[in-house]
Amino acid sequence: MKLKDLRCCDKCGGQIALVFHIVEVTQAIVDGAAVNREYGMVQAMGGSVALASIMGVEEDVVKMVPHSTKLILCQECGMSGELNLAELVEKRYDAENEKADKEKSDEND
Ligand SMILES: [Zn+2]
Repeated sequence: MKLKDLRCCDKCGGQIALVFHIVEVTQAIVDGAAVNREYGMVQAMGGSVALASIMGVEEDVVKMVPHSTKLILCQECGMSGELNLAELVEKRYDAENEKADKEKSDEND
């Protein structure tokens, strides 16, 4: 992480100290079709998951969304209280878009 990437805490907006937390949030989605294929192989192997995994092509049944969000949390926010990851990710997403829009409008001026 570069100096330019440091910012205030994404939860409370306070300054970070020497020790802080970075939480990388990535959404995951269950691939229903892949689950069905794997389940079909298990059924074909008489219900044996172990046999199905040997005989079949084990594929990932969970897909990761390519974009992840890095949250910066001060020591206090990282160590105490509740974290609403969806809310913090949305707030971070909005801030990144706002920054990108500002940079775009600065280029046009
Ligand atoms: Zn904080």
